[in-house]
Parts: sequence; C-alpha cells; structure tokens
Amino acid sequence: MSEVVLVVEDEPSLQDTLTYNLKKEGYAVEAVGDGRSALEAARRLKPDLIVLDIMLPKLDGFEVARILRKEMTTAILMLTARDDEIDRVVGLEVGADDYLTKPFSMRELLARVKAQLRRTRMLREEMEKTNASAPPHETLTFDNLVINLTRREVTLNDQPLQLKPKEYELLLFLAEHHGQMLSREFVLERVWGWDFIGDSRTVDVHVRWLRQKIEADAAKPTRIITVRGGGYRFEG
Ligand code: CA
Repeated sequence: MSEVVLVVEDEPSLQDTLTYNLKKEGYAVEAVGDGRSALEAARRLKPDLIVLDIMLPKLDGFEVARILRKEMTTAILMLTARDDEIDRVVGLEVGADDYLTKPFSMRELLARVKAQLRRTRMLREEMEKTNASAPPHETLTFDNLVINLTRREVTLNDQPLQLKPKEYELLLFLAEHHGQMLSREFVLERVWGWDFIGDSRTVDVHVRWLRQKIEADAAKPTRIITVRGGGYRFEG
C-alpha cells in the first residue's frame, strides 16, 4: 500500500505542483487549503506525512501542528516563507520534524519527504518490535464527557449526544484549549473562519446550545465558564 501524504497549502498552483510531484513518486496524496480542513483530513486519513504550510486561512500551520502533535505521531514537514518563522518551527513549541524555506525545488522537497517517511517506517518498526507503542490519541476525555475525534462523536455518560456540526466544532475547539480563556472574537475567527459574516453573539448562541447538552444544569454551568470581560473558558 502506498504511503499517504497530506498536503496543506492554500496557494493553488503550489498545491497542484506538490500533489502532482508526490503522486508521481507513488504516494497517495490528499490536498487541502486551510487549517481546519487540515485537522479534519489528518484525523480521517492518519497520513504518514503532512506537508504543512504556515500561513493558512482559518488556522495557521503553527496551530495545526500544535494540535496534531497531541493526537498523532505523524511526521510534519513545514513550509516556511520567512526566516523569522524558523525558530518557532524547529523549537519545542511546534515540534516540526523538518522544514523547507520557500522557494524550494521539487527535488529538494521530494528528498526531504523520502527521508522523513524512511524515518517514520523505522520508528514504526522499532515500536512494533518493542510493542511499547501508545495507542493514538483518538479521544478527549473530560470526566463523563468524551469526544471521539475519529468518529466526530460526543458522549455524555456513555450516551451519544446529537450535536450540530458547528456545535461539535465549537466544543472541540474549546476542549483543545482546555483551561484557557478564549475571547468571543478569537472563537468566532477560529471556529467560523475569517470570512464568516456574523458577530460574536453567534458564539454566545452556540455556547448556550452546547450548555443545554453537556451541562448538568445549563443555568449554572461548570464546564463552559463565562469569563468576565468577554470570553469563555472550558473547564472540562
Ligand atoms: Ca500560505
């Protein structure tokens, strides 16, 4: 079976070039153009490698890498456009396995991809040998509330909840930023996207719906806390 590479690049011509060349090398390739689609595709595909651009709509490459690092061990090759991004890319903050600075040659990219995949294969064989591999992080658990990332399903006391897609995305976003104060504007931008025409009351409405589904008493929430001065904090 061919190895799966997820390409995350918002510039159409570069996305096409990358896809074309990687396919020519025999990889199975899926390409997306924004950060939220990248998370969705990575969770669904469990790729062997992610080629990840940094400047992306909806969720930037730093954020995508940071979130995926907690969920999977997939190698990440980041594409940077500026020198000042490199420190963050190689630092612990993001933990990319490798990076390339734009512009780069296809030959260089393919060499890096091949090297990363070789390394991934070796690590996998090592893990299988020692049988010490931890199961991949497919669920986020907060007491009796469990978010299954693979199946996009949420259960409360083992009972599945009926969530609308945006409610699910909002809950997931809150859960991924567990314990952090998140402003309505930040939530709106990240969950609904830059191009969303709406105001921050959209967030309040969805929070209210979510509370009715996940709180023991929606009037006295203990999971999604309203923070004075304009935001929310997920307590789990
Ligand atoms: Ca870009």
